[in-house]
Amino acid sequence: MARIAVIGAGMGAMATAARLAVAGHQVAVYERGATYGGAVGRYEREGFAFDTGPGLLHLPAVYRDLFVKTGKRSLEDCVDLAQVDPAVRHVLPHHGIDVALPGASHGGVAGALDTAFGQGAGERWNALLGRARDAWDATRRPLLEEPLRDGARQALCEDPYPALRRAGLFRRRPPTLAEVADRELGGALGELLTGVVRTYGIDPATAPGSATVLPYMEQTFGSWYVRGGMRALATAVYERCLERKVAFTFGAEVREVLVRDGRAAGLLLADGSEVAADHVVCAVDPRQLSAPPLRPADAAPARGSQAPGRITLLLALRGARPATAVHRTLVHAPGAQATVLRPDDPATRPDAEHEAVTVSAVYGPGTSEPGELLELAEKAVQGLRERLLWHEVRTPADVEAATGAPGGAVPPPALAGAGGRLLRPANTTDVPGLYLAGGWAHPGGGLPHAGMTGALVAGLIVEGAEFRGSQ
Ligand SMILES: Cc1cc2nc3c(=O)[nH]c(=O)nc-3n(C[C@H](O)[C@H](O)[C@H](O)COP(=O)(O)OP(=O)(O)OC[C@H]3O[C@@H](n4cnc5c(N)ncnc54)[C@H](O)[C@@H]3O)c2cc1C
Repeated sequence: MARIAVIGAGMGAMATAARLAVAGHQVAVYERGATYGGAVGRYEREGFAFDTGPGLLHLPAVYRDLFVKTGKRSLEDCVDLAQVDPAVRHVLPHHGIDVALPGASHGGVAGALDTAFGQGAGERWNALLGRARDAWDATRRPLLEEPLRDGARQALCEDPYPALRRAGLFRRRPPTLAEVADRELGGALGELLTGVVRTYGIDPATAPGSATVLPYMEQTFGSWYVRGGMRALATAVYERCLERKVAFTFGAEVREVLVRDGRAAGLLLADGSEVAADHVVCAVDPRQLSAPPLRPADAAPARGSQAPGRITLLLALRGARPATAVHRTLVHAPGAQATVLRPDDPATRPDAEHEAVTVSAVYGPGTSEPGELLELAEKAVQGLRERLLWHEVRTPADVEAATGAPGGAVPPPALAGAGGRLLRPANTTDVPGLYLAGGWAHPGGGLPHAGMTGALVAGLIVEGAEFRGSQ
């Protein structure tokens, strides 16, 4: 039995801790805040309740696997998981388009797109997602399910998206996502594609075509809500950790990873105390530790440091949520876009005569002021301003307070292509016994990806460097 110290109690940290504890190790988590979950927060006021971090889960299989591997009760036994249908509504006010897409139905999506964008739009969209599936199939294991080894890193620098070639066109480089959208979809439908990718904090103008795997993932595996709020997922993972005897120390900020005789030996806490350990898992943005435990190649300034933050408005509305309201709406406007979440969940409102709505956006031009977000949200929620009782704003500074990531940066999922610029640091480091997990490590941020880091790091510690990845 080894002593394992985990830095942070975010989702990646807890997913790692539960798996290591079930393998018989003595696992202790050190969290600088007062609670678990990191970005997966909840705000409650006057009977209203809001998710302050992720509002939906894509790829629930990652957490299903975690629960199967760490205990008797399944994910569905521990949280009330519901697939969102329609999966998403897209509003493009400048094109007069307002379309709701059904969940996980390629045929249904094609029909809805034909109606909104004109005959043939659905076929073009699904053909593009078919190519995205090829990119997903080609890179799924090395990109998501296996530790990032040097050979795989080289291969993942190439864009796997099989972009349509134009006859006679000499291509010096693979097209960017924005170019793929323009050439293969065109016009408003292209804007819809780039808008979906933008919600991850990824810039379509520089992203590779492989970013099409993100809308592919959403359409294929669906969007899932946890009734009672997404915080319930963090609570379930925390409780699973407690069941497996993971020890949590809150209010314990880690300043440094101790290295003795060339290997990780424990933690130095901000109060000056030391914790001895045989292995250390860093599940926070490593840039905030003194002497960040990164390989030179992984510490490249481009990696992660440019991930944008988020701004979120929590809106308390008077009046009932209309039965026809869609759970998630993306409002795409020129130069700005916002996600509007309207869960049909009594746990989010004081009574049926009120509604809780969350509006979020990648922080930047056109979305840095609450008024700008309200204006976008009005395109999705009729009579919004008249119904508004009060609102709260969550800025990147609030995200920084919750996660410790400088500037409130939210790391996107790792992507293949773009010369490896969107890959994340490997889970192993140059220091034996020191591992990286959570959204800042391979395979990147977002609930499912950070959850996957748990399987990878636990596999590397339990099975050793020869670990080939989760099955
Ligand atoms: C506003 C917002 C919206 C998001 N929307 C989505 C979404 O729609 N879909 C999606 O999949 N993902 C979304 N994400 C991202 C997702 O929430 C995270 O990627 C995921 O929760 C994984 O987080 P993590 O494991 O990297 O830990 P984090 O959530 O980053 O938590 C890190 C933890 O470590 C602690 N910590 C930091 N430094 C130290 C230290 N020095 N010592 C001790 N403890 C420390 C922090 O207090 C925190 O508890 C969103 C995030 C935010 C902020």
